[in-house]
Amino acid sequence: MTEHTPTVTQAAGRSGSGRPDGEADVVVVGAGPSGSATAYYLAQAGLDVLLLEKSRFPREKVCGDGLTPRGVKALVAMGISVSEQDGWVRNKGLRVIGAGRRLELEWPELSSYPGYGLVRPRTDLDQMLARRAEQAGARLIEGLTVTGPVLDDRTGQITGVTARPGGAGEERTYAGRVIVAADGNSSRLSVAMGLRKRDDRPLGVAVRTYYRSPRHEDDYLESWLDLWDGDRLLPGYGWIFGMGDGTSNVGLGLLNTSAAFGHTDYHALLRRWLKGMPEEWGFTEENRTEPIRGAALPMGFNRTPPYFNGLLLAGDAGGMVNPFNGEGIAYAMESGEILARTIAQALARPGRADTERVLAGYPVALRQAYGGYYALGRVFVKAIGRPELMRFATKHGMPRPAVMRFVLKLLANLTDPHGDATDRLVNGLSKLARSPG
Ligand SMILES: Cc1cc2nc3c(=O)[nH]c(=O)nc-3n(C[C@H](O)[C@H](O)[C@H](O)COP(=O)(O)OP(=O)(O)OC[C@H]3O[C@@H](n4cnc5c(N)ncnc54)[C@H](O)[C@@H]3O)c2cc1C
Repeated sequence: MTEHTPTVTQAAGRSGSGRPDGEADVVVVGAGPSGSATAYYLAQAGLDVLLLEKSRFPREKVCGDGLTPRGVKALVAMGISVSEQDGWVRNKGLRVIGAGRRLELEWPELSSYPGYGLVRPRTDLDQMLARRAEQAGARLIEGLTVTGPVLDDRTGQITGVTARPGGAGEERTYAGRVIVAADGNSSRLSVAMGLRKRDDRPLGVAVRTYYRSPRHEDDYLESWLDLWDGDRLLPGYGWIFGMGDGTSNVGLGLLNTSAAFGHTDYHALLRRWLKGMPEEWGFTEENRTEPIRGAALPMGFNRTPPYFNGLLLAGDAGGMVNPFNGEGIAYAMESGEILARTIAQALARPGRADTERVLAGYPVALRQAYGGYYALGRVFVKAIGRPELMRFATKHGMPRPAVMRFVLKLLANLTDPHGDATDRLVNGLSKLARSPG
């Protein structure tokens, strides 16, 4: 299957008759990082944007709450103040634990990205981004669940959405010249338009919770490459991110290339892993402050095409999580920006055919941004699904800091276009992996 072949089933939508309750140039469904970024950049370009969100802020989102320098850059681009006075907790790199070793790797010094990462609970972060979109002029409606697409009878193109306040109130319709699905991993709107997830693309499942812990202040994000239950190696990879507020965000994930994927009790796995941790870290039931919650991480473009019958996908809806490290916030915001710039140009063109031509450039722009890197990531995910290969890489990589510094650049997608030899190697590999077209 190529990037062009949609995983498409019959679209199930309402045909577009009657007056809509709301109208805008663009209707964006979902106010997570991708939807808020899309709405922000569209509003900045002078377009009238409706941003529809089923929950009300502040709301929880299951996440590790960690931002690499890539995420920091995306926040700065939206004019968010990321100073420590404003409640941000900074980190200077990644601590990697594996093969009996512990390595602290600082974020690389680059001109393209800042030299630090951040941690912030999603309850804060997502609200901040949504308010930023509102400040820029987007019309945010909270507590409104989008229930399906409205389709043009003649062309089958999406022209709007139906929605219900609180998911159960009276049905309303919202119309736009283009519609954006930024409704996250399960993207009901994409599914209703016939766009399913691709089962030939990577998918992760991860769980996380919070513990009161003396480790809450940590200036490194911590990543565990192998999880031990006594002397038994468990499947998956773990993280411990200090939140700076008395708690640590602790979680683990598995990839669908792992043999254990699909028949693992993640909650039990997390508890077994944490049982082996030093007692003084406090990762015990008495110190747990939140339930253990899990969700999927759709990776490496696992829903395609990102433009189909008038619907454009951003962030997790388009499966844009980095397959190397499970980072999704930065890609959600970046794809929102790429998408908004495409839409702004498209809607400035006279005539639908001309507009369509520009919108068709969105998948191309995404491929240019991430195509090669994600193709490489898909190979990586397949390889590390084999425990013997993963063990080999950890055993031989961990004793070599120079190798691990290269690995960090590769895993976090942090390079300069014309940087040093390691940057050029990562960029070259991504270019090589890019599938033609
Ligand atoms: C356990 C776990 C840990 C993770 N850790 C990290 C991490 O540390 N760092 C990182 O960068 N990424 C992490 N990720 C990935 C990251 O959470 C996602 O990639 C990111 O949230 C994607 O943003 P989004 O805006 O595309 O989707 P979402 O954040 O899912 O936002 C979608 C929005 O759409 C709304 N919505 C959904 N359906 C409807 C509807 N019908 N009508 C109206 N609104 C709707 C939702 O309420 C939500 O607000 C993690 C993911 C998981 C599961």
